[in-house]
Amino acid sequence: MIKLVSITLENEMDLVLAHKRSMIVAEKLGLTLSTQTTFATAVSEIARTIIEHTDQGILEIGLEQQKARYSLFAHVAFDKEIHFTNDDSGFYYAQKLVPEFNMALVGEHNLIQMKIGLPRSLKLDPTRIAALKVYFLNEQPLNAYEEIKQRNISLNKLAGEKEEELRQSKLIDEKKTEFISVASHEIKTPMTVLKAYTQMAKATKEPISERLRLVLEKIDLQSTKLMQLVQQLMDISKIENGNLQYNLKKVQLNKFLVAQLAVMQQILPDYELFSELGSDAEVNVDELRMEQVFSNLLGNAAKYSDKGTHITVSSNLTEDGMICISIKDQGKGISKNNLKSIFDKFFRAEDVLTTHAGLGMGLFITSKIITDHGGKIWVESEIGQGSTFFFTLPSTHS
Ligand code: ADP
Repeated sequence: MIKLVSITLENEMDLVLAHKRSMIVAEKLGLTLSTQTTFATAVSEIARTIIEHTDQGILEIGLEQQKARYSLFAHVAFDKEIHFTNDDSGFYYAQKLVPEFNMALVGEHNLIQMKIGLPRSLKLDPTRIAALKVYFLNEQPLNAYEEIKQRNISLNKLAGEKEEELRQSKLIDEKKTEFISVASHEIKTPMTVLKAYTQMAKATKEPISERLRLVLEKIDLQSTKLMQLVQQLMDISKIENGNLQYNLKKVQLNKFLVAQLAVMQQILPDYELFSELGSDAEVNVDELRMEQVFSNLLGNAAKYSDKGTHITVSSNLTEDGMICISIKDQGKGISKNNLKSIFDKFFRAEDVLTTHAGLGMGLFITSKIITDHGGKIWVESEIGQGSTFFFTLPSTHS
């Protein structure tokens, strides 16, 4: 089967194309004018009948080879549910025009096959056929309608390819999320055991050397860091699966902030933590998730600042009844360019990549927690001038 022309049969304009194209193919093959006309009429009659029933027919014209003989064929595929009646005169007329006419069910479609044997005198050979193929491949549209149609076909093809690409990348993304989720659960289990044994060893009453105590401290600290990373990975996959859940509870904000500052001061002994708390308010929050927010923001404030510098936590009530909390550091600051990406997943500023450990997950998770609580988060910063992270939470009395 050598396909030369393909036309989708959608409306009457396609009848013109079907007729003209069949004439051109027959002419290029060197058939007589009367055979050209007969073939083109048969094709047009079938095309017209199909268009009367559906806008989803497909016409293909080409050559078929049987040993050294060639035939000219026209195939029209259409919905298998379509049945012809006596009213479809074109269907019966076309059968009289071509020597071979056949209709069969092929897969999900009905297929009409019309065939005319080609005389040897046409001297068809592979070289001529190859030239014909190239001719029809490069042929310009017959009219403005065909031009638009061809453009539509290539646009649809492109859209289909893009859709497929998108589907594939979504699939890969889902697989990656699933992998992160499984891998982090697998890591968490032995880590929990390791941490428990370390704490048991630290708490032992048996005498142990100072050196060993120091080693145990280090194992404990590093396993805590590793547990936090694993927890972040698990949170990321929960966010992506849309099942980060919250256990909301009414909390007195100032009491919560004071407790957080005390804990964080212990964790960050090399920094001076200050608080400037405004009037108290009640908020409806998941306490563990809020602790995570503070641990991330205060942890970053320390991580990206020199030892001995100050970190100030402030709170105040805004005019629209929200509580605004800020965490201000005296650290390296963030460039203007990086400010817009700072809350993106896996984002890390280029100047910290080699100097500070991290995976760029903390702020992404923090911002998700804040927005899920009905608040907003943003940052103000300048290189060398420190950074202030702000976030708001709705007060229950507003
Ligand atoms: P990580 O700290 O693990 O890299 P985060 O999501 O917590 O991930 O932070 C993302 C990036 O934002 C950091 O890599 C850093 O470049 C920048 N950043 C965050 N907090 C600060 C801060 N207080 N001062 C300067 N840069 C910061």
